[in-house]
Amino acid sequence: MSSTSSAWRLTYTGVTLDRAAAIRPVQSEIEGFYTSALSRVLPVWNGNHLFECDGVDAKALSIDEIASLSASTSDLIFLGLSGDIPWFALALHGEGEPDSKHLSGVFEPLHPRVGGLDADQAALLAYARGMVLWHANHLHCGRCGAPTASTDGGHIRTCTNETCGYRAFPRTDAAVITLVEHPDGLHCLLGRQSRWPDGMYSVVAGFVEPGESLEECVTREVNEETGIVVTDVCYQASQPWPFPSSLMLGFTAKASTTSFKPDDDELDDIRWVSREELSSYGEMGDDTPGPKLPNRHSIARMLIDGWRRER
Ligand SMILES: [Zn+2]
Repeated sequence: MSSTSSAWRLTYTGVTLDRAAAIRPVQSEIEGFYTSALSRVLPVWNGNHLFECDGVDAKALSIDEIASLSASTSDLIFLGLSGDIPWFALALHGEGEPDSKHLSGVFEPLHPRVGGLDADQAALLAYARGMVLWHANHLHCGRCGAPTASTDGGHIRTCTNETCGYRAFPRTDAAVITLVEHPDGLHCLLGRQSRWPDGMYSVVAGFVEPGESLEECVTREVNEETGIVVTDVCYQASQPWPFPSSLMLGFTAKASTTSFKPDDDELDDIRWVSREELSSYGEMGDDTPGPKLPNRHSIARMLIDGWRRER
């Protein structure tokens, strides 16, 4: 199977900021950015991002504007520099939606709006989102249970218990996602989970476990979910997937068996699908009955479309 990775830019990749990691531990520099009129802030509330009311773009706020949201600079996370402009993510707390009307903005989920976003904005929001969600899920030390505090510009959470002092770094959960080709070269393996949107079919995916290589994970996940044995596991591309904290690692593999005997019940339906059949599959969001392809902004779709184009 030929490589499906190409010049195609996967959604959520390609953050254009200089991450400026050397600045993160320099508290005086970070605090200087807190008062800079240049600084731009991307707020995230309850997993939602701020978008313009009357447009498709994400909204970035000034430091002065975040004060009106009752936000604290201690909740700012330094993302990096765009030239001289410091960029931050901001975690907004509270169950009630922040009063954003005076900001001409509206808080909405990222993924349903990503189709209208510029690719650079999508990547930046994904980065901001991943950082904010990591903070929200690591408020206490995993070793001693004491509260943690944001340090190094928000790239470390340090335990406040001085006898512990454990430092936690932003977490990324590795997950493999694999397009499996039938031994005849004419069909690929798709399945669906009952919790997915109506009609959606996709390739096999699963989380990497401790003590396991990526290739071993591909082989195990495909076999657990379908009973298929694979060879020729080949890396293709990766995609940040901050919903909440995954990195999707895309592979292709070749099946050496064809009968379905799943070990688990993760997939409701499993099927071999030809290129001709794929061309009759619908798009997510359309009203047609019948099977549908994964969202165009997913690495699953990139793997399927790449395989479909091979011949
Ligand atoms: Zn601790």
